[in-house]
Amino acid sequence: MNRASAALPKPALRGTDPAELAGEIIERLTYRIGKNAAAAKSHDWLAATILVIRDRVIDRWIASTEGTYQAGGKRVYYLSLEFLIGRLMRDAISNLGLMDEMREALSSLGVDIDLIRELEPDAALGNGGLGRLAACFMESLASVDVPAYGYGIRYVNGMFRQEISDGWQVELPETWLAHGNPWEFERREASYEIGFGGVVDLAAADGSGDHARSWKPQDRIIATAFDTPVVGWRGTRVNTLRLWTAQPIDPILLDAFNAGDHIGALKESNKAEALTRVLYPADSHQAGQELRLRQEYFFSSASLQDIVRRHVQYFGDIRTLPDKAAIQLNDTHPAVSVAELMRILIDLHNLDFDEAWDITRATFGYTNHTLLPEALESWPIHLFEQLLPRHMQLVYAINAKLLIEARRQHGFDDAAISAISLIDEGGERRVRMGNLAFAGSHSVNGVSALHTELMKETVFAGFHRLYPDRINNKTNGITPRRWLMQCNPELTTLIREAIGDAFLDDTEKLRDLGRFADDAAFREKFAAVKLAKKVALSNLLRERMGLKIDPAALFDTQIKRIHEYKRQLLNIIEAVALYDQIRSHPERDWVPRVKLFGGKAAPSYHNAKLIIKLANDVARVINHDPAVQGLLKVAFVPNYNVSLAEMMMPAADLSEQISTAGMEASGTGNMKFALNGALTIGTLDGANVEMRDHVGAENIMIFGLTADQVGKARAEGHDPRAIIEGSRELSQALHAIGGGVFSPDDRDRYKNLVAGLYDHDWFMVAADFDSYAAKQREIDTLWGDRAAWNAMAIRNVAGMGWFSSDRTIRQYASEIWGVL
Ligand SMILES: *Cc1c(COP(=O)(O)O)cnc(C)c1O
Repeated sequence: MNRASAALPKPALRGTDPAELAGEIIERLTYRIGKNAAAAKSHDWLAATILVIRDRVIDRWIASTEGTYQAGGKRVYYLSLEFLIGRLMRDAISNLGLMDEMREALSSLGVDIDLIRELEPDAALGNGGLGRLAACFMESLASVDVPAYGYGIRYVNGMFRQEISDGWQVELPETWLAHGNPWEFERREASYEIGFGGVVDLAAADGSGDHARSWKPQDRIIATAFDTPVVGWRGTRVNTLRLWTAQPIDPILLDAFNAGDHIGALKESNKAEALTRVLYPADSHQAGQELRLRQEYFFSSASLQDIVRRHVQYFGDIRTLPDKAAIQLNDTHPAVSVAELMRILIDLHNLDFDEAWDITRATFGYTNHTLLPEALESWPIHLFEQLLPRHMQLVYAINAKLLIEARRQHGFDDAAISAISLIDEGGERRVRMGNLAFAGSHSVNGVSALHTELMKETVFAGFHRLYPDRINNKTNGITPRRWLMQCNPELTTLIREAIGDAFLDDTEKLRDLGRFADDAAFREKFAAVKLAKKVALSNLLRERMGLKIDPAALFDTQIKRIHEYKRQLLNIIEAVALYDQIRSHPERDWVPRVKLFGGKAAPSYHNAKLIIKLANDVARVINHDPAVQGLLKVAFVPNYNVSLAEMMMPAADLSEQISTAGMEASGTGNMKFALNGALTIGTLDGANVEMRDHVGAENIMIFGLTADQVGKARAEGHDPRAIIEGSRELSQALHAIGGGVFSPDDRDRYKNLVAGLYDHDWFMVAADFDSYAAKQREIDTLWGDRAAWNAMAIRNVAGMGWFSSDRTIRQYASEIWGVL
């Protein structure tokens, strides 16, 4: 900040009393929307309300940014191809502490805040857990006062909208920007040129660095920034989410247009627009299209150019970059950033290779999110080279340095060398993005204790031998603002009455709630809150899908992306077995259960889509059978997204976290449920392991094979057919599904799905079935003792404080980024 600006007047902080807020809403409605109160529709009230809140956020935003400049502090840059944000209005109002005032202001104008809130589009610029983590992290970075920027892509079409038609998933484009987006600010001045293709020459004579080259790209487009302010808890800090959009250098080729080629004249414009048009809907498997690699480089390059520009502008010397910037790569999607920073340092700033490499590694950290082989990103050499010829050279140079070090200083043999190589030489040669990210970072972290250990033993075993201090763990977390205070104000109020307000600023204080587990009066109130949330969900599902469910039944919920490793199939087969049991033994005292499913399948993932159809086929048969009326209901709730999660998590009694052990890196859905007082049925996978440690083994229902046992079964071979034939319940259920009982219109529909279980059972569905079913019957018994159930649920809430993303961010900040 220069001296002149210190003397300039600062805007007065705006007031917060309801009458003043109401006045401002009318003012925005009149002069920004152009309507009077009588003519205003609900959408207009929403827009006016957001504008009033936004002004209060902006005051703090400017103060936060100015404060960071003045302090000359280090900034954190979080690069992520996905941000699964959800709605922002309630988040902003609540973090500014204005919920009561805003409700009153709107109510004085005859507007119900809860009704207009529902009209805000759900920003879904992500697939699932990875993108939601990025959104929770942005909120926590601001809440724990870390100066940070999130960088990503402003997709015009985010995650598709899912409809269920005749039981099948149908994907429809989602248009979150259709009514404009009042939260974002276009920053025309923050624009960068991004190149693709072309040729590489020796650097011009003035390039002093030995290694400098000059890249002459064939195609060039412009990246322009859109900024969204992210306000932290109690409004202490407001950080920036900067999303890039692609624009042509020449919006219209006038020569072509004037020559009559009206379509050709828009070629460049359409090409640029296509780049940031859609989010790839692939979760946990590689989206192998050229456009995807273009998206990755586009946003990486724009972000790196922005970071370097800011650094040089404020600090002058590019060599101090690692002291002032920590860049975190959220999975390998931004891994090309490693080569891009090398290019900028060597070709544009004339550093020599070794110095550039030291700066690069000191600046980057990399977070691994999956060990699934089908999800480890790699790009064919020919594609990489054609699109990014200069980066290809740099990858080869980095690789040569890495492999020489491994061979000469650490005695790696050929097999060990080929495991860590940045190039996969088996078959079509490919660039391994995970290895590039690992080599180019000073820190590589997993997202749960188990996942981090498996990383050391499997994908990165060779790298771990080479750099034993580089791998570390940062167990994921969730923001308690969105996932408790906002989605469950009733429970939040109850907790405040019991233990006071300290947990609002330090969730570990939830521990104090533990002693109320034995308080019968408190348990009653706790159960009443849960019931109220179940009633609210029941009403929503009745309105939305005509579903009638009894709020008194046990709500057994599995909501997450549909994936074979997450094993929705295990849950569905158990529902079929239970259905069979109830019909065979109507005299028994069955616990009324509602099994709720939700989640999207990648459009190209055949088995995942078939599992959705199966859930719907099974639901149709069970829900129409009078023999199980009032005892068992199954429903697939369409279009799972953040807003639906905010309704379904607080209304769950039982949380299904049943992935094949060793395959779920962490999970965060598991945390949201438990924080809202659901009990977990789960395997010892991902963060479930640490949840057991925090809530106590007696308060979580663990079943099934461990990761070690799964590894052994796969290595030594197991006999799923024998397992199935040894289990009456399982073989009957599989016989019914495979034989077409639930698909009379197409009896063979599930033949192959079931045959896969007999044949190899890669995901251990058959292997874990009996243990899972037995645990479910224990859960029935426990439900019968509601006092015991509620006490366990309360202990779950009390034990979940550690899983706040504030804790996770503090660990990243002190152990990886060197801030705080
Ligand atoms: C939390 C969340 C996820 C992640 O769920 P997991 O059970 O951890 O896979 C995915 N989608 C949405 C909308 C979420 O809120």
